[in-house]
Amino acid sequence: MPTSRGRCHTYNVTHNTLDIPPWPCDLVASAQPDPRTTRAKIAMTRGMCAVLTLAAEATACSPARHGRRRPVALSRSEQMARIRGRDTQPEVALRRALWAEGRRYRLHAAAPVGRPDIVFPSRRVAVFIDGCQWHGCPSHYVAPRSSVEFWAAKLSENTSRDRRQTLELEALGWTVLRVWEHEVFEKLRAVVERIARVLDGEAPSASYEPRVIRVEPTEPASRDERRTIEDLRDPTRHLIETRPRTTTKWKRPVARKD
Ligand SMILES: [Zn+2]
Repeated sequence: MPTSRGRCHTYNVTHNTLDIPPWPCDLVASAQPDPRTTRAKIAMTRGMCAVLTLAAEATACSPARHGRRRPVALSRSEQMARIRGRDTQPEVALRRALWAEGRRYRLHAAAPVGRPDIVFPSRRVAVFIDGCQWHGCPSHYVAPRSSVEFWAAKLSENTSRDRRQTLELEALGWTVLRVWEHEVFEKLRAVVERIARVLDGEAPSASYEPRVIRVEPTEPASRDERRTIEDLRDPTRHLIETRPRTTTKWKRPVARKD
């Protein structure tokens, strides 16, 4: 497992790093290779953490490579990797709407499992806002064209974490509401009402919550792709669909300024 400690002059940070496409190294705070496997735990500067299986193309980030002071143009997927964080636009919009309804919540409060975006501790209700691209929204997930294996691993990691956290919280008596990013923009009222009903004691209505967990090409030359979609909670409820490949990403609408 190649690893090196060095200063990246492009971003002026020192880290133990592995050069993993497509993340620029300023996002990689440290990399802990596991000598027994081909995996490494990557800590990210934005608080994200990933355990990755390193592909053959992963090479040590050497000062020689990164000392060229060359501005790094970010690909779309790199830009996306940077936008994940607290206080995202959909989070703020949903919180504002809940507050206006008189619903008092706690932000990123401790839940027994995971770090929900909005928590109602006394009702034991946890709300997660899932980004369409990061968490496999069936309507909007677009399989990236570059670093295919890397992004496939990321999707699989995210969706399995979503499932595990949801099931573990529910086993502890919590109610878990997972809201798609696009729902906050497209039907905020309905999202607020859904949360309010649960806070008022109603059982959550969603029973089937599909997520894209895998996208594969059908044949090398084909323009079709095969998508495996599974229920958030129950992987036996799944479907495989073949459809023409798209590269058109969903654009989040511009937020209105009140
Ligand atoms: Zn979506």
